Amino acid sequence: MTASKTEFRRKLDRALDSDKLRVALHRALPALGLRRADRMREVDWPALRADLTARKKHAVDDIPALIARFTKEAEAVGAKVYRAVDAEEARRVVTAICRAKRAKLVVKSKSMATEEIDLNEHLAANGITAVETDLGEWIIQLAGERPSHLIAPAIHKTREEIAVLFAKVVGHPVSDDTASLVAVARDELRASFLKADVGITGGNILIADTGTLVLVTNEGNADLATSLPAVHIAVVGVEKVVPSLDDAAAVLKLLARSATGQKISTYTQFITGPSRSADIELKTQIGVHGPKELHFVLIDNGRTAMREDPAFSEALRCIKCGACSNVCPTYQVVGGHVFGHIYTGPIGLVVSPFHHGLDSVAYEQQMCVGCNACDTVCPVGIPIASLITDVRALAVQRTGISWAKRIALSQWTSPQRIDRMTGWLSALQGPLRHGSLVRLPFGDLGKEKSLPAVAQQPLHYRAREITQTNPTNPVVRVGLFPSCIVDHFLPGAGYAAARTLQALGADVHIVEGRRCCGLPHMNSGDRKNARAMAKEMIAALERVQADKLVAPSSSCAITMAQDYERILADEPEWAERARRLGERIVSFTRFAYDLAIERGATGRPLALRATYHDACQSANVLNLHDEPRELLRRVAGVQLTEMVDSAVCCGFGGTFSFEHPDVANFVLETKLANIAATGADVVITDNPGCLTHLRGGLDARSQRVKVRHLAEVLWESLAAPD
Ligand code: SF4
Ligand code: SF4
Repeated sequence: MTASKTEFRRKLDRALDSDKLRVALHRALPALGLRRADRMREVDWPALRADLTARKKHAVDDIPALIARFTKEAEAVGAKVYRAVDAEEARRVVTAICRAKRAKLVVKSKSMATEEIDLNEHLAANGITAVETDLGEWIIQLAGERPSHLIAPAIHKTREEIAVLFAKVVGHPVSDDTASLVAVARDELRASFLKADVGITGGNILIADTGTLVLVTNEGNADLATSLPAVHIAVVGVEKVVPSLDDAAAVLKLLARSATGQKISTYTQFITGPSRSADIELKTQIGVHGPKELHFVLIDNGRTAMREDPAFSEALRCIKCGACSNVCPTYQVVGGHVFGHIYTGPIGLVVSPFHHGLDSVAYEQQMCVGCNACDTVCPVGIPIASLITDVRALAVQRTGISWAKRIALSQWTSPQRIDRMTGWLSALQGPLRHGSLVRLPFGDLGKEKSLPAVAQQPLHYRAREITQTNPTNPVVRVGLFPSCIVDHFLPGAGYAAARTLQALGADVHIVEGRRCCGLPHMNSGDRKNARAMAKEMIAALERVQADKLVAPSSSCAITMAQDYERILADEPEWAERARRLGERIVSFTRFAYDLAIERGATGRPLALRATYHDACQSANVLNLHDEPRELLRRVAGVQLTEMVDSAVCCGFGGTFSFEHPDVANFVLETKLANIAATGADVVITDNPGCLTHLRGGLDARSQRVKVRHLAEVLWESLAAPD
């Protein structure tokens, strides 16, 4: 497959132009997310997740031995087990089994593994008709499409579109209510189950101890497909193997809750060998009501390479629940035909390079805005968002970075270059400047948001002035790393952060030696510059005499505290220095909260009609939710009106909102509607990127809601206490 920017852009434009797609996704995805959240509240989610993660990690480490044990046990009860190194071998094996049985018709239960190997097309080329029997799979088979979601293949289709499809099958109009549509599928598919020579399924779990296949479904079609035909073939990835029944139970405890928001799925089959009976004189007879033959085709197709990669091996824990897609803000806009390849959604971006080559998602990976929401719901603790940035770093080696972006990134590497570039921007922005914003009179970007203006005076110009207001008897020494965006675009927020920390008893010095942590480079796949900047930052911050290094930007705090160690993992000495630095880094919100609580700080009550936007990084990585609210209530007396989905991304995503303003705008529109519904006239947040994006979006729509950094509100309150 060849990476094609044109093809990607065509798919993206089609998705963005489709109101039907948005209606279909909007009808289904938020509900799936809510149902999952309800089910997780009923159990000890952190404990179950930790348990399952540990079990799956152990299983992935042990795949070769577990597959050998599974093979021995499955063959001992009469199954046949084949190993397929790649998709071609898997197709060949399945076709050979079908041919040996002179099969003309196979019924299939939903299986992403067979999608992975393009099985249906191959069977058709060999004169064998494959009928999908899962409702969603049947819909997309009729439409000649691919699944757009791991567990809900036709989630991109409205019921009205499905009614039109079904009408063509039955030859008369079909009502678009769900019951009528399901009745059509039931009537049409029943005959295929009875006539089929072979049933083909995937598999949710393989149990090594017993040679058992576990299938989890809701419709009952898998039960028919594995019972009525004389032959059952299960095509399963080797990563689905676990040691024992206990491990399978750990998967089942979270699979349905994560996937569909059910406590458990309607049907959970444990299939151990072909059908049998010993009812007559205790003589075992294979093949009674169910199949006489059970074949396992266990596919590798890149999984060994994934397992051997220290970072990507984590992705093999995936139980294909689809929860990561359901919470992904950009997937909700563009759907799975843009977001991924055969495997769609966040995890699709991670695994596709191994199954289908890097080109399969070379441009599609751009759709990740880096909000980390996927990580928060993954039942096996896969660091999906980080792995996507790894895929991006590989992808841009193939596709390159646009010349404009390359120049911008190269100019944003050192303090001198950043100061020079902001100097140029400052001179150019003059006629377009409106207060703290720049209004572009052209282009999609200009329509959707105003940009932050370069400040006349960056924060580091005030470094000395700030040290003069330090408390006489400080309780802690702080180096405040302002970040490039605060330093040059939002110095007021940086000044407020410094003064707030001083008011809470800290001795504060502005870190002047570095401007940018390298996050824009990392987000853009520019790993070379990101690594170089990480090393320079580590060396510079090691020299800062401070107990803690505080960043008024959660994203920058996370980059320095977590990502440096990860991207420098292949240089152990640097990785260790990054780890030690990480122990000193803390976000402004966390640090101010701890100080304010410890010291019982209070300020002047502010009469604000305010709501709070949780920056994705603060909420999803640093797990900050109550802290900023508590700070605002205790210190500034602010009673917030909560907005719906306060922790869902605003669409900024660093360079994302500049490269894909059309997608970012859909995400932003939802956020702005949620803000408007609160009636608040101030939105407070703690991440500079969100602040500039929301401010710019509101300005472009002439909405008069203000956006303020948490530090600005706290400092306003603390500056003049009663
Ligand atoms: S980080 Fe956010 S945007 Fe990226 S894949 Fe995960 S949920 Fe989607
Ligand atoms: S990555 Fe995690 S959340 Fe996504 S499908 Fe796999 S197990 Fe589910």
